[in-house]
Amino acid sequence: MQLAARMHRLGTETAFEVLARAKALEAQGRDIIHLEIGEPDFDTPRHIVDAAIQALRDGYTHYTPSAGLPALREAIAEYVSRTRHIPVHPSQVVVTPGGKPIMFFAILALCEEGDEVIYPNPGFPIYESMINFVGATPVPLRLRMDREFSFSADELADLITPRTKLIILNSPANPTGGVLSQADLAAIAALVQDRDLMILSDEIYSRILYDGEFASIASFPGMAERTIILDGFSKTYAMTGWRLGYGVMPTDLATHITKLMTNSNSCTNAATQMAGIQALRGPQDDVDRMVAAFRERREVIVDGLNAIPGFRCLKPRGAFYAFPNIEGTGLRSKALEELLLEKAGVATLSGTSFGAYGEGFLRLSYANSVENIRRALERIHDVVVKIAD
Ligand code: PLP
Repeated sequence: MQLAARMHRLGTETAFEVLARAKALEAQGRDIIHLEIGEPDFDTPRHIVDAAIQALRDGYTHYTPSAGLPALREAIAEYVSRTRHIPVHPSQVVVTPGGKPIMFFAILALCEEGDEVIYPNPGFPIYESMINFVGATPVPLRLRMDREFSFSADELADLITPRTKLIILNSPANPTGGVLSQADLAAIAALVQDRDLMILSDEIYSRILYDGEFASIASFPGMAERTIILDGFSKTYAMTGWRLGYGVMPTDLATHITKLMTNSNSCTNAATQMAGIQALRGPQDDVDRMVAAFRERREVIVDGLNAIPGFRCLKPRGAFYAFPNIEGTGLRSKALEELLLEKAGVATLSGTSFGAYGEGFLRLSYANSVENIRRALERIHDVVVKIAD
C-alpha cells in the first residue's frame, strides 16, 4: 500500500500513546498514577447529562444542520458575545465534535504550500502536525520560562513575513499554563492590524483561569474580523468524551468551514448539542467548583515539584498542567518520562511531546485527586533522588 505523501507529514498527540502504555502496565498489575492525559477527572454536571437523556427521549436522534442546531449556535453566539465583549451573530458559529476539528478545518481552509504559520512551541502538538499536513511551513514561536511562557511583541514581529498566513495563539496555554495578558494581546493586535493574515485563537481553557478576567485577541478593535475563536465544552464542563466544541469566525469563512463539516462529519451529535445548550444556559456552579479544586491541586503540585532535586516549576496561571523545568536532573525529557512510568508508576509527558522547545521540561496534568497527586510526588521524588545518588 502506497500512502499519500501528506500522511508522512502528519504528527500525533503522544498523550494517547503514553496512556496506552500506562494501561498496558496496569493490565500487568502495576499501580499507575495518571498525570499524562489532559482531561478533567470530574463527571459531567448532572443537569447537562439529564438534558442529553431528555433530548434522546424527545427524538433528537437525527442529523442536524452541519453548522449545528440553530438554538445552540444562538446560545454560543450570546455566550461568546458576553465573554469577549464583541457582537457575535449565530451565522459566525460552527459547531463541531470537540474543539479540535476547528484547528483541523481552519488550517485546511486557510493554509497551503508557500504559506507560513506561526504557532506556540512548546504548544499543543496538533498545530504543528496540521501545518505540516497541509504543506505549509511551521514557524515556531518559542515560549520561554523566564517570560512566564509568554513572548514579546518584538519576538513575534521578527517571525512575521509577507508569507505569514496564520498566527496561532493559545491562552491559557497547554502545556505551559501561561496566559497572555491584556497588554500582550494589545501589542499583538497592534502588530497584526494592518497585515493580511488571520489569527486562530485557541481559547479552550478560557474558563480555567486562576487570576483576573479572561482576555481574547478578538476583543481588540478590528480583530474580530480576522480571528477564529476555538472554544468548546470539553474542559469547562468536563465533557471530553461527548465531543462538542465550536469555532466563531467571520460569516464568510464559517460557510466554508461548514462545508468541511458536511464533507467529513455531516454534523455533530444531536443530543450532545442539546446538552451544550443546557451547559451554557444552566447553572455554572459546577464550573466554579471544578476551578476551585484545580486551584487547590495547583498549590500541592507546584510546591511538591519544587521540592524535587533538579525540578523548577512556575505556578500556572490557567489550564490544569504543571510544566516544570527538569534540566537539573541531568536527564533528557523523554528519558525522564520513561523512567517515571517504569520505576515510579507515574505517567507524565515529556516536554518534547509539545515541540522541540519542550526539551528540558515535563508536563504533569493535575486533573487528579490531591491524594493521587501527593502519592505521585512522593514516588517521583524517590526515583529522582535515587538517580542522583
Ligand atoms: N486545544 C488545546 C490547547 C487542547 O489542549 C485541547 C485538548 O486537549 C484541545 C484544543 C481540543 O479539545 P477537544 O477535546 O474539545 O477537541
